[in-house]
Amino acid sequence: MSPAEETAQILERFGIKSGGDLASFSPIDGAEIGRVAVANPDEICKRAAGAFGEWRTVPAPRRGELVRLLGEELRSAKESLARLITLEAGKTHAESLGEVQEMIDICDFAVGLSRQLYGLTIASERPDHRMMEQWHPLGPVLVISAFNFPVAVWAWNAALALVCGDPVIWKPSEKTPLTAEAVMAIVRRALGQFGDAPDGLIQLAQGERDIGEALVDDPRVALVSATGSTAMGRAVGPRVAARFGRTLLELGGNNATIVCPSADLELATRAILFSAAGTAGQRCTTLRRLIVHEDVADALVARLKALFAAVKIGDPRLPDTLIGPLIDEAAFDGMKRVLGDAVEQVDAVPGGCYVRPAIVEVDAQQGSVLRETFAPILYVLRYRDLDEAIALQNNVVQGLSSSIFTNDLREAERFLSAAGSDCGIANVNIGPSGAEIGGAFGGEKETGGGRESGSDAWRAYMRRQTNTINYGTDLPLAQGIRFDVAE
Ligand code: NAD
Repeated sequence: MSPAEETAQILERFGIKSGGDLASFSPIDGAEIGRVAVANPDEICKRAAGAFGEWRTVPAPRRGELVRLLGEELRSAKESLARLITLEAGKTHAESLGEVQEMIDICDFAVGLSRQLYGLTIASERPDHRMMEQWHPLGPVLVISAFNFPVAVWAWNAALALVCGDPVIWKPSEKTPLTAEAVMAIVRRALGQFGDAPDGLIQLAQGERDIGEALVDDPRVALVSATGSTAMGRAVGPRVAARFGRTLLELGGNNATIVCPSADLELATRAILFSAAGTAGQRCTTLRRLIVHEDVADALVARLKALFAAVKIGDPRLPDTLIGPLIDEAAFDGMKRVLGDAVEQVDAVPGGCYVRPAIVEVDAQQGSVLRETFAPILYVLRYRDLDEAIALQNNVVQGLSSSIFTNDLREAERFLSAAGSDCGIANVNIGPSGAEIGGAFGGEKETGGGRESGSDAWRAYMRRQTNTINYGTDLPLAQGIRFDVAE
């Protein structure tokens, strides 16, 4: 069945009618698979502001109930949604199922969180006084998402925002509007079961960059959580700062793995193959730089070259495919700009851009090695001493994910120490990609500094209020200041 025919069947199952000005194309064969209508940002912000007035007073555990229902609906729709992700984003079915599972996992996490939005109580320096912190809902949250995680990134943000008391506006990637429509159909089912959620609590704002810009500038949006390229973050960050809004930026990476002489090379090889070549190199956490000790480099690189040459590339709907297409021709052009004629095209499905992952050995970290090319290119650098390897790994402008393969405790701990990796994520004996939702996700430097998903990332979606309560009959001032007027 063609991607267009299969998409039509799935959209019908979700009760979605295709139509509107924004077209979606399947990377599998490059053909149009559906259309959506472009949003009216002003109308959306108005409705979100209205919803906030109601939602912020709903008790947080009750807000958690909506997220629990969403998780249940996602469980029921997992297979269909995953198939649509494969059709629209080109991920293999296994990876698409994994993406929906992440949505379910964050819903479960957020339900528990809805009873754990803890503030501190603080000792007051004044007699008969008590201090405490409360966390209050912040306001409408705008989620801007990228094509490569077309639905999970929304869920990471939305599940937390909803339990924190914030309405959600979603501006999905213009390359994956249909999966967003399907998620909204699932949301509507959850809202129907929930019963009394305010109108405008969860909205979709389809469109291209201009729609994103209008939403970013709207003062009714309290937090802009934007996932995408560093270029996008560079545009969005200052615009939101100019109106003193909040941002949570999740931008590009240039992730590295260090392989030490003591490493389990079998383990390292498997992890590197998945991290560098999986999702056709189109993950923010994709492994792009392999920094390998010269004693083990020849053996490791030879094995990787053999695996890269053998890995099955093709229609991501087929069960034995491990690597699907690049998202579009622009992505293919990006790879060609770096590798020229050395790009090995794979003749899989006519109309799609299929490439074999490339390994490029380099002597120095310069030029394209310093940039994120969103395609499967793995640069290999050799090192002699661990400090040199850590310096190489840190000496780029991005700071998302990193890992080390070693069986030497001292090397592993040095890599994780304050003098080690400068990234938001640092792993030992696993690759840099494939995070779990329980940890805070995000990176430093030009990756944007934001953290979303697990741990205490929820705090970004709330405002902190410090309260001092006097239960005495006197009015002592802080720091012992006296301000008495003699009458
Ligand atoms: P992109 O930057 O082209 O687009 C991302 C989103 O931003 C889209 O919805 C787009 O319409 C919107 N957008 C672009 N410019 C905008 C502007 N000026 N104002 C408002 N909205 C704007 O990214 P992409 O090609 O879809 O995704 C790939 C990039 O995303 C890579 O750089 C990748 O590393 C990054 N990414 C990062 C993470 C992370 O968590 N750090 C996760 C996924 C992807």
